[in-house]
Amino acid sequence: LALIEFIDVNKHYGNFHVLRDINLKIEEGEVVVIIGPSGSGKSTLLRCINRLEAISSGELIVNGTLLHTKKVDINQFRRDIGMVFQQFNLYPHKKVIDNIVLAPTRVLGLSKEEATKTAMRYLKRVGIADKADSYPAQLSGGQQQRVAIARSLTMNPKIMLFDEPTSALDPEMIGEVLDVMRSLTHEGMTMVIVTHEMGFAREVADRVVFMDEGQILEVAPSSKFFAKP
Ligand code: ADP
Ligand code: ADP
Repeated sequence: LALIEFIDVNKHYGNFHVLRDINLKIEEGEVVVIIGPSGSGKSTLLRCINRLEAISSGELIVNGTLLHTKKVDINQFRRDIGMVFQQFNLYPHKKVIDNIVLAPTRVLGLSKEEATKTAMRYLKRVGIADKADSYPAQLSGGQQQRVAIARSLTMNPKIMLFDEPTSALDPEMIGEVLDVMRSLTHEGMTMVIVTHEMGFAREVADRVVFMDEGQILEVAPSSKFFAKP
């Protein structure tokens, strides 16, 4: 059973047809990288998956939930889906550790102690346990993005969505974020990634989706997609 399935999905922003007849199935454990020119609809497609955007027609089924029914409990639905953005979206006035424990205590109802334990485990995972008591502004961009990833992982998601996670970073910080993402792919996390990092896409993608002007023009295994003609 596919974890994510787009069936004839279209989306309009007013008169602008941003997604055109999207058909795409993503299986559990798959790593799918979406590439294509700026403005082709990559980010919109990604944001439809956790219902940050509503589709206009067709069907979108994510983690067993048919997203167009009005009955969907969005907060419940989003628990299983982590998202990492270009901007790190950390609370500047909260320490790193407090940024992370917020959601598991409020949303999952974990005790502060449990949440802190889990958070520390993931901070260790992303290599910045020593920054737990720092404030975001005291961290580099790469470190802040790793906090954002740890924060998502603390919710124990089934799917991780990445929207150009390295685009706002100085070049020397990109590698450390890609390393963390690479380690997730090795653990069987289902991941959908929008990125311009072609070397990384080639390396980690099970399949590459190429979009242009709101359409999927090609879907192919990485080895095939990047094969020299
Ligand atoms: P990509 O991620 O491939 O750069 P996006 O999905 O961000 O593309 O955007 C696709 C197109 O939709 C762009 O032309 C963009 O200007 C337009 N767009 C994005 N969000 C909105 C919005 N909220 N309202 C109107 N147009 C939008
Ligand atoms: P919002 O409340 O965020 O403005 P709505 O839930 O009102 O969005 O959605 C606007 C329209 O798009 C509705 O007709 C809705 O049924 C449809 N729609 C939204 N999401 C989906 C989806 N995932 N699949 C199919 N139709 C959808």
